[in-house]
Amino acid sequence: MPLFDLMRQDERFGSRLSGRLAAVLKHGQFILGPEVAEFEAALASYAGVRHAIGVSSGRDALIMALMTLGVGPGDAVFVPALTFSATAGAVVAAGGVPVFTDVDPETFNMSADELDRTIELTLARGELRPKVVIPVDLYGLPADYAAIGAVALKHGLAVLSDAAQSFGGTIGEKRVGDLAPITATSFYPTKPLGAFGDGGAIFTNDSELAETFRQLRSHGMQGSGDVAMRLGMTGRLDTLQAAVLLAKLESFDDRLAECCHIAARYQRALAGAVDTPRVPPGFSSAWALYTIRVANRDAVRAQLAQSGVETGVYYRVPLHRHPAFAPWLSGGEQLAVSEQLADEVLSLPLRPGLSEVDVDHVIETVLRAVH
Ligand SMILES: *Cc1c(COP(=O)(O)O)cnc(C)c1O
Repeated sequence: MPLFDLMRQDERFGSRLSGRLAAVLKHGQFILGPEVAEFEAALASYAGVRHAIGVSSGRDALIMALMTLGVGPGDAVFVPALTFSATAGAVVAAGGVPVFTDVDPETFNMSADELDRTIELTLARGELRPKVVIPVDLYGLPADYAAIGAVALKHGLAVLSDAAQSFGGTIGEKRVGDLAPITATSFYPTKPLGAFGDGGAIFTNDSELAETFRQLRSHGMQGSGDVAMRLGMTGRLDTLQAAVLLAKLESFDDRLAECCHIAARYQRALAGAVDTPRVPPGFSSAWALYTIRVANRDAVRAQLAQSGVETGVYYRVPLHRHPAFAPWLSGGEQLAVSEQLADEVLSLPLRPGLSEVDVDHVIETVLRAVH
């Protein structure tokens, strides 16, 4: 039983997709064709935010956001230690310094208290200027934007949401895209809303910022002009990917509902036997991954593999232990929770198309493996 099944779609998807692709092949506007604007409008409307800008990837979305925030040498950008490397990689690419902060042992997301402590420590060292915080919505669960926003406000930091894993998640009435002043997401194929290649989007309610992002993704050019207004990049969402995503967005709510149903079955059957994901009251996860905690993770994983259940480990190594980020470490990092989680997290198959029998098989195999 594979962890992901990228070919599984609802029945009507095939005909929707062929229609969309045929239209693109007919008009031939492969760069910023009409599907891009149509998808951006649908995406913004879904997220309940004024602007969505289609871009080349989640990492590029983060880089362009950091560019508009004026991040440069000597600027500290706070990121959780337990995330995909692109969160911190984007900071370095934008010219800033990633400063790692610890996560909450229950939600696995950035801890506001730890963020406050890390900012204070950074100020005390006096080498970097605290500038931006990037909460990550790990495994699909939105970070605690209220608590993190309060800490950011206290220290004068901008908040940039890394929602690469959480499109479709909510806090109260608000959806991902509208939980922070700027939100970056990814359409990498295994993400909740996955394209057939790379893609991403930036969300904001700020019209001026939205125009800046449109310039940044297209070499800094304004509209169809040929004068660079600012330094930009080749950062557009392909028309073909926008066409795929338009077809996929139509059944996205069904996907979410199916994933929530499977997650609820896992919660009921596994709670008590293993540490199951905690979703705080008022929050909902997009369930990019269903991640449990087990002390003897690698042994449990091997046993699951023997029973034909593929699992994943996100992430085996916290970012402060990646060689790529060694030059930016202060040496005083205290990231005990991230380190322990990296040894214990295990992601089970949770995706549309898993049958009741499949889910029962996973549950039985996990229960057998941990006893
Ligand atoms: C996938 C991911 C990214 C990068 O997205 P790409 O589209 O692959 O560039 C960034 N941050 C997190 C947390 C991710 O999971």
